[in-house]
Amino acid sequence: MEFRDLKRQYSVLKQEIDKAVANALSSGAYIMGQPVKELEALLAEYVGSKHCISCGNGTDALTISLKTLGIGEGKAVFLPDFTFFATAEVVAMEGAHPVFVDVDEKTFNISPQDLETKIKETIADGKYTPAAIITVDLFGLPADYPAIEEIACKYAIPIIEDGAQGFGGEIEGKRSCSFGTIGTTSFFPAKPLGCYGDGGAIFTDNEEFAHLADSYRVHGKGSYKYDNVRIGLNSRLDTIQAAILQVKLNAFKEYELEAVNKVAGWYNDRLCKIVETPFIPDGYKSSWAQYTIKLPTQSDRDDLQAKLRSSGIPSMVYYPIPMHKQSAFSGLHTSEEEICPVATSLSQRVLSLPMHPYMTKEDVDFISSVIYGHIAD
Ligand SMILES: *Cc1c(COP(=O)(O)O)cnc(C)c1O
Repeated sequence: MEFRDLKRQYSVLKQEIDKAVANALSSGAYIMGQPVKELEALLAEYVGSKHCISCGNGTDALTISLKTLGIGEGKAVFLPDFTFFATAEVVAMEGAHPVFVDVDEKTFNISPQDLETKIKETIADGKYTPAAIITVDLFGLPADYPAIEEIACKYAIPIIEDGAQGFGGEIEGKRSCSFGTIGTTSFFPAKPLGCYGDGGAIFTDNEEFAHLADSYRVHGKGSYKYDNVRIGLNSRLDTIQAAILQVKLNAFKEYELEAVNKVAGWYNDRLCKIVETPFIPDGYKSSWAQYTIKLPTQSDRDDLQAKLRSSGIPSMVYYPIPMHKQSAFSGLHTSEEEICPVATSLSQRVLSLPMHPYMTKEDVDFISSVIYGHIAD
C-alpha cells in the first residue's frame, strides 16, 4: 500500500499527461512558455484571486511574498509552531525574526488567542516590529481566517497564507490561497495539487504586489529581463510542469477533491469511535493533504505506528518536532518548554494515515480494521 499513490493517479491520467508533455517538448519554450500563462489564469480563476504568479516551489513562493511586503531585519513574523520547517525558515532567511505561535488542539491551525498574546508581547518587548502573520492551512484545512483577519486588522499587519497544503480547501465557499494579503501554494508532487517536480504559486488581489512578485521571481527584473531594479531570485515554473498541472487541475476540479473527501468520510465512519479523528469546523472544507488522527499518548502513537508497519500500512508523523524545538532555531527563545504546549503535545500524539483520491473503500476498511484490532486488544 502507498501512503499517497501518485503512480495510480498517473496511470489514470497517463494519456492526457503524456500528450501535454510531448506538446511542451516540441514547443521549444521550456521555461515560462504558453502553458505557464494559461495555468496562471486557470489557477487565479479557481482560487478566486485577481493575480496568480507561478514560481519554482512553495518555499520560494513564501520568500517572494516576504520580499514583496518588504519584510527583513528588525521585523517580527508570527507563524504556527506546528508546521513544515519552510514556513519558519523563509522568515529567518530574510533576516526577520520568527515568532512561534501555539496552535488549536482541534484544528492543528494557528491559535487566534495565542497569536494576539504573542503580538502584544512582541510590541511590549519593543525589539522587533510586528510585520506579518503567516498562517498555514495545515493538512488541507483553512486556518481560522475570520478570527485571524480581525487581529491582523486591529494591529495593521498583513497576512501571508501558506496554502502549500491547503489548495482546494474552503470557508463558506471562499477558497484557500485567496485569504490574506498574499496567498501561496506548492505543487510538490505529494501536495493536494502536485506536479512531477517542484513548482509553486503566489496569489493576490493587489496589483502592485503582483507586479513586485513577478519581478522578484525573475532576478528583480524591471521593464525587461536585462533591466534589473531589485535583488531577486531565479524562481520560474517549467513549461512541462505547467502542462502537467493543467491536466491535474482538471482532474482535481472534476473528481479528485470530491473523491478525497469521500475517503475522509469512510475513515471518519470507521474510526471516530476508537480514536480522535480530524475536526472540520462548520462551513469549512478540507482538501485532505493529510488524514491525521490523535492518540492519547506518545507510546500509544508509536505502538500503533509499529502495528501498522507490521501490517504493511505506511503512516507518517507530521510533525515530530515543533518549530520552537528545532535546533536551527535554538537560541531564539528563553523558556523552551512553555512557549507552545499544544504544538508540543500534538507532535507526540499525531499520526497521518494513507490518504489520496484513489483510495478504495477496501483500503480504508483494511487500515481501520488493523487500528480497531490493535486498540481493542
Ligand atoms: C510543502 C510545504 C512548503 C514548501 O513547499 P515546497 O514546494 O516543498 O518548497 C511550505 N509550507 C508548508 C506548510 C508545506 O507543507
